Amino acid sequence: MPLIRHHIAGHEAGAAERTGAVYDPATGEHRSDVALATTAEVDEAIAAAKAALPAWRATGLIRRADVFFRLRHLLAERRDELAAIVTSEHGKVLSDAAGEISRGIENVEFAAGLVHLLKGEHSEQVSRGVDVHSLRQPVGVVGAITPFNFPVMVPLWMTASAIACGNTVVLKPSEKDPSAAVTLARLYEEAGLPAGVLNVVHGDKVAVDAILDSPDVRAVSFVGSTPIARSIYQRASANGKRVQALGGAKNHMVVMPDADLDGAANAAVSAAYGSAGERCMAVSVLVAVGDETADALIAKVAERVEGLRIGPGTDPESEMGPLITREHRDKVASYVAGAAAEGATVVVDGTAKAFDSDGFFLGVSLVDGVRPGMKVYDDEIFGPVLAVVRVSSYAEAVELVNANRYANGTAIFTRDGGTARQFEFDIEVGMVGVNVPIPVPVGAYSFGGWRDSLFGDSHIYGPESIHFYTRTKVVTSRWPGHTPSQIDLGFPSNH
Ligand code: NAD
Repeated sequence: MPLIRHHIAGHEAGAAERTGAVYDPATGEHRSDVALATTAEVDEAIAAAKAALPAWRATGLIRRADVFFRLRHLLAERRDELAAIVTSEHGKVLSDAAGEISRGIENVEFAAGLVHLLKGEHSEQVSRGVDVHSLRQPVGVVGAITPFNFPVMVPLWMTASAIACGNTVVLKPSEKDPSAAVTLARLYEEAGLPAGVLNVVHGDKVAVDAILDSPDVRAVSFVGSTPIARSIYQRASANGKRVQALGGAKNHMVVMPDADLDGAANAAVSAAYGSAGERCMAVSVLVAVGDETADALIAKVAERVEGLRIGPGTDPESEMGPLITREHRDKVASYVAGAAAEGATVVVDGTAKAFDSDGFFLGVSLVDGVRPGMKVYDDEIFGPVLAVVRVSSYAEAVELVNANRYANGTAIFTRDGGTARQFEFDIEVGMVGVNVPIPVPVGAYSFGGWRDSLFGDSHIYGPESIHFYTRTKVVTSRWPGHTPSQIDLGFPSNH
């Protein structure tokens, strides 16, 4: 059985005392094992990152930027190879895997602008002969803990900015699809990143806790489910670290009666069922304003999903692949059965669909008549299940979205500019789409939700990541010979 090992200081590492199984979700086959790091192995990776820190932070900015320019080129050149690795362990269709790599490349492009991003400020003559300037310096060793659903993009969200800022990193990817992270680390090194700047350790809670408890890790970026995000935030911040912990989501797409309903139905199908609904920005709730809108939309969505082609991600004909594990598939299916028991109407039942495979496939489901308080509404399902909530007005739609515990993304579909603008103003959610169902910000902006979708102050990638991964220092200076000096025991005044 092939063994996926850690990548520490540029080398494969780890004795693999404990291992986890990695499956091909399209066949259900146990394809490889992944080493699950011990605390000592994580400490080794942290020590490698700490050792690499002085030289990396002293490396000239232009030299650092060169790494990102080369990495961008390598990622584009090897996109298909990397996408195949993602599909083999995650299951998403190849075009979707290639799409996440393209979005990750945006973070690399952003990082390549580090000379501009790391500029400080300067104020001349704040007092006679006295100047002030500010510096941005790396925080040190960064821990990066990532989920299964974007095995390339989310590691790039974190590593590109963290490394650009002069930090070194220990990345702990999901143990469910760990190979892409190792390939990524090798590509960084091929692009010129010195060994030890980016280390990868695989593992579970043992590895994560070792990162959170190490005094040598100064900042932690986490993306995953809300319960784990909350506990990571609490433990790492109690240990004095800077933390950003992005959690789960329940993204509502509000459809107004004046919307282009065909466009909205296309958007809903794409955003609810793409990647089998395993996206933190997937639309999982369709909020239809008015019964007429609801009836028309449901008919259009139901008609469109009939033809959806579900199959192995490697088949170019497939539009949707399997789910990540058998257990997850069964849990998602249980929500559809549960919704019917709670009084909702299952318009399309994907759980009844048979697949001639041992893979973790599930058909898509559409559930009408959903209300808060039902599990199908309250929980993040993370699968191909779209719930429809009927409301009677715009105000009711806004109230519903703002009352949800999650607040990652949302969208409004309307032809009315005034309504869309009001929605931007009213809605209490981190990322908003106007006739755009998955409003993941382009790499020059930052990504993050509100409420239970993010613990910590900083959104991830983009400008906020530069703040997160640097400490500022402010220098006040005066040079002898140009201004008179005198003894003055008063508090320094600039007047
Ligand atoms: P997860 O929370 O199960 O795992 C995320 C990471 O935490 C993995 O590396 C995992 O090994 C580790 N982990 C798991 N249990 C742990 C524990 N008890 N203690 C410490 N570490 C632990 O999430 P997942 O199933 O891999 O990913 C799906 C979730 O991630 C969904 O909830 C999704 O919404 C969320 N997500 C959020 C965003 C976002 O930007 N907000 C992006 C992608 C995914």
